[in-house]
Formats: sequence, structure tokens, C-alpha cells
Amino acid sequence: MTVYNLGSINIDMVYRVPHLPKPGETLAAEGFSQGLGGKGANMSVAAARGAAHVRHIGAVGPDGRWAADRLLEYGIDTTHIATSVEATGHAVIYVDDAAENVIVLWPGANGIIDENQIGTALSEASPGDILMMQNETSGQVLAARMAQDLGVRVVYAAAPFDVDAVQAVLPFVDMLVMNEVEAAQLEGALGVKIPDLNVDDVIVTLGANGCRWYQNSTKLETAFGAIDVDPVDTTGAGDTFTGYVIAGLDRGMPMAQAIGLATQAAALMVTRLGAADVIPDLKDIQDMKL
Ligand code: ADP
Repeated sequence: MTVYNLGSINIDMVYRVPHLPKPGETLAAEGFSQGLGGKGANMSVAAARGAAHVRHIGAVGPDGRWAADRLLEYGIDTTHIATSVEATGHAVIYVDDAAENVIVLWPGANGIIDENQIGTALSEASPGDILMMQNETSGQVLAARMAQDLGVRVVYAAAPFDVDAVQAVLPFVDMLVMNEVEAAQLEGALGVKIPDLNVDDVIVTLGANGCRWYQNSTKLETAFGAIDVDPVDTTGAGDTFTGYVIAGLDRGMPMAQAIGLATQAAALMVTRLGAADVIPDLKDIQDMKL
């Protein structure tokens, strides 16, 4: 089976600053690092590290081919990552000594993904494949509709939360994954409680408290605890979790087992500093001392 991911690819530019800058202030950074990020890239890497066969659909600018090459090194099929005239999406991140951060996102190439490109990529999909999406690219409705017509399972991470995007995509979604904040935003914006959403499976992640799985057709709810670790950096926890759930399902695991695997992967991820480049693989999880 193949996991198609219509997903953002960002360059994360992280500046370590003595304090977060005030309006009008010019501040010298104490450190700088650049790496691969974006929810889409993170989820592709997580699913690939979980042994799924992943095809990423997306776009970078001329300045971002290295990011696509990095995905290729992780074993991801990058045939459908286009080079756009727009700059690669990027995140400018300031982190101060107290680990507080401020992030400015520029969608760049992620925001103008060619619809023909999505069509060409998904025309290779067949029933049993999975399409995953997040809210950091254009083209979601087209992709979701096409996937539904093809009998491809649609998994949607409604993040960052955007009410218009969620409303447009939800009718095509088989499985929805959100964190607690996004779930509250969705309930508030749509005036519908999670168990009453017309989506088969909903997973709400709860940080150090684990997650809840809602099977809405049977009204079953199951709670899963997290693994007790000392968190260092929670960046990418949710993306790692979602990518690993999908990898588990893609490998034929029942949902509860896929959630168990994802819970281990995400716990290990929060003990590591960084994003896509530090997502654990299956061996790391096997070697995990719990
Ligand atoms: P997001 O990163 O999208 O905000 P969460 O913070 O809810 O998502 O985390 C996603 C998953 O990562 C959780 O369901 C849990 O399994 C794991 N996780 C997150 N924070 C911790 C933590 N402090 N300790 C152990 N596991 C964690």
C-alpha cells in the first residue's frame, strides 16, 4: 500500500535570542540553525520511519531542492514534489533562554501547489491506499474529493486550525487527528461535539495525557495514556504521532495497535531537540528503555 501525503515542506530557521524582540528593537541572535520542517514534511518522515511507503505531493522553491532531497534520503518518493517559482515555505523561529518562542510562517510554494500535479499524483492511487493532509498547503479539497472517488482513505490533521479549510474538507474525511486546542476550536466553530461529527474515526491528542480515539459510527470512545518521559522539546510530537498511526494502519495494524506504536514514537520524539531530522525510527522505538 502507498501513503500519499499532500503536505507542506518548510525550511525552519531557528534563531536563539537573549529575549524575544520588542517592537522596533534590533537584536543580535546568539545562535542560528536551519533544518527541514513543516507539518507535511514531518508527517512524511514519521510515516516513512514507521516503514510506510510514502509519496509526498508538494512544492518547494528553487532555494529548497535540498529539502526535497532530504526527504528522498528518508526513503520518501519525491517524484511529485514540484519546483515552484515561489520561494520555499519557511518558518522564522525565535527561541529565548526561557524556551519561549515566536514563529512567523511564510507558506511560499506550499500555497500554490498546482492542481494538475495533485491529479497526476493521485491518479496512481488505488483502493486501500491512504491520503494524508494538513492545513499548510493549497489543493486539499481537490485531493480529498479525488481520493474519496478512488476509494482511498482520507486522513486529515486539522492543523493549524482554520474553520473554512475544515468545513470544506470534512465531508471527505475518514479519519481526523487533532490536538486538544484544535478540537476545542473545531467544536466552538462548528457547534458540534467530537462524537457527533460525521467522521468514522477521530483522535484527539492530549500531550502528556495521551489521546482519545472516538469511533463515531459505534459511539465508542477509548482512552490511551502517554508514556512517562522527561520532555526536552515537544516540537513535532503531534506530527510524529499522526505519521506513525498512518504507518501502523498502512501495515495492517488494528487502530489500537497503531495508536500504541504512535504513542511510543511521540514519547521518544519529545525527548529530542528538533523537528523532521530527529523523528525516531522503528529500531529506536524497539530500543526504547521504558
Ligand atoms: P501537538 O504536538 O500536535 O500539540 P500533542 O502535544 O497532543 O500534539 O502530542 C501528541 C502526542 O505526543 C500525545 O498524544 C502523546 O502520545 C505524545 N506526547 C506529547 N507530549 C508528551 C509528553 N510530555 N510525554 C509523553 N508523550 C507526549
